[in-house]
Amino acid sequence: MGSNSKPHQDDDYIVMLPFLAHGHLIPFLALAKQIHQRTGFTLIIATTKLNVQYLRRTSSNKDDDSDSGILFAELPFSSSDHGLPPNTETTENLSLAKVIDLFHASRSLETPLRNLIHESIGKYGRPPLCIISDAFTGWAVDVANSFDSISITFTTCGAYGTAAYVSIWLELPHRKTECEEFEVKGFPKRCRFHRSHLHQFLRAADGSDPWSTLFQPQLMLSLKSHAWLCYTVEEVETLGLQVLRDYIKRPVWCVGSLLPQAVLNDESCSPSSSLRFSKQRVSKEVGISAEKLFEWLDSQEPKSVLYISFGSQNTIGATQMMELAIGLEKSEKPFVWVIRPPVGFDLKGEFRPEWLPEGFEERAKEKNRGLLVRNWAPQLDILAHKSIGAFLSHCGWNSVLESLSQGVPIIGWPLAAEQSHNSKMLREEKGVGVELTRGALGSIVGDEVKKVIDLVMERDGEGEEMKKRANEIKLQIRAAVKEEGEQKGSALKAIDDFVASILAHREENVKNKEILT
Ligand code: UDP
Repeated sequence: MGSNSKPHQDDDYIVMLPFLAHGHLIPFLALAKQIHQRTGFTLIIATTKLNVQYLRRTSSNKDDDSDSGILFAELPFSSSDHGLPPNTETTENLSLAKVIDLFHASRSLETPLRNLIHESIGKYGRPPLCIISDAFTGWAVDVANSFDSISITFTTCGAYGTAAYVSIWLELPHRKTECEEFEVKGFPKRCRFHRSHLHQFLRAADGSDPWSTLFQPQLMLSLKSHAWLCYTVEEVETLGLQVLRDYIKRPVWCVGSLLPQAVLNDESCSPSSSLRFSKQRVSKEVGISAEKLFEWLDSQEPKSVLYISFGSQNTIGATQMMELAIGLEKSEKPFVWVIRPPVGFDLKGEFRPEWLPEGFEERAKEKNRGLLVRNWAPQLDILAHKSIGAFLSHCGWNSVLESLSQGVPIIGWPLAAEQSHNSKMLREEKGVGVELTRGALGSIVGDEVKKVIDLVMERDGEGEEMKKRANEIKLQIRAAVKEEGEQKGSALKAIDDFVASILAHREENVKNKEILT
């Protein structure tokens, strides 16, 4: 089945429920577009008001989405009713301690989701083909079942990271040993995990704490969904997929990188496109002008620039920030660094010069050595630029895919969630990265920073090998979404197989009902 054959009825639709975080909303939107393009189904993305506004800004349709096949449904939600600051509808700028409140608050979306499905059944005359929800919103499995639909879990993380995250949360293996290192159920013995891979709440979790009592039931419910979709590429994550499939005992379809075609076709690094940011990138206020950024990147040697960013919601400690700057200066490598106030300060506040070595920004300017971008940069455009040689990243999964889709190796500095598992996989399974440090509290020194940057950015030796391997992965990521005649890449095939499976499930359902009546 391809984009030209649509074995569905005009009133077929799917409801999607992303978790309330930037790194989840964007892949859900991209998946919706991909499914719509291949099937013609209507996709209804159900989320809170501010997130609907954000998704509308990000996608091409502004107010009227009726023609695009992607509809946005607002689910009533008031963050202040749940002890959160007013208008908090994503994890962005929330401290880890407050993130749990948002997780709890997201449970209140159940009734609005049920109301939405009632209304949709009235409008379309049948339940949705399926509800695609996040692994954190396992309660949607019950909602789907109660409306005679099925639920699909879409994990916006990679397979290795998802498998490690789910297995560790459900089994708490670190609580069963005194050792710093431990095995994780499902993973081969050689993949030993370390306590420092776990964030503080998971390290302390014992099954009765607020994080366990939230996560464990939600993940368990997600394991009961009909099947899983995984935001990864089959060929890139062989081990992770094997572990995930064995652990959850459900079909797992890999939907690919879901990145804009222009970025996968190298169009966005051509000089003609250098003066504008892509749609995905303009939906936030960018801390630098396109002209300034691209003029500077264009003036740098190919593969010579280090890009540094810690994602949409994280930052590092004040001492770490200072040492990173010291190491960067010592390495003398050109850089683009997205800066935010360090841990403990208001992330939306002004960046104070005292958080960097005295005169750091001025020297970078004088020597034409680097750019500091405040708060938010057009990351995809930057990574797609030919001057970028490595990415110092917190290893959020979107960042990982974006980097590898451009053949850019990664210096890992994981901070939260499943990021340390991603960093481990990049290093141990793929050989496309090294890890500088872990967490926002660990100590690093400038000399170590310089050593690691030099290693990854060197023109021969290990750095060059990493670039070669990253380039091979880039080709696999791109091949997964190619379609030539009857030949289609693994991600397209996976989406088609997933669609065939949900249609077959509905047909079976209809037949069973006919037998009963
Ligand atoms: N991002 C961006 N500019 C920034 C920071 C982040 O465009 O300055 C985008 C990045 O390209 C990626 C997403 O935000 O698509 C971050 O997602 P990721 O999974 O890497 O990390 P998270 O923010 O969820 O921790």
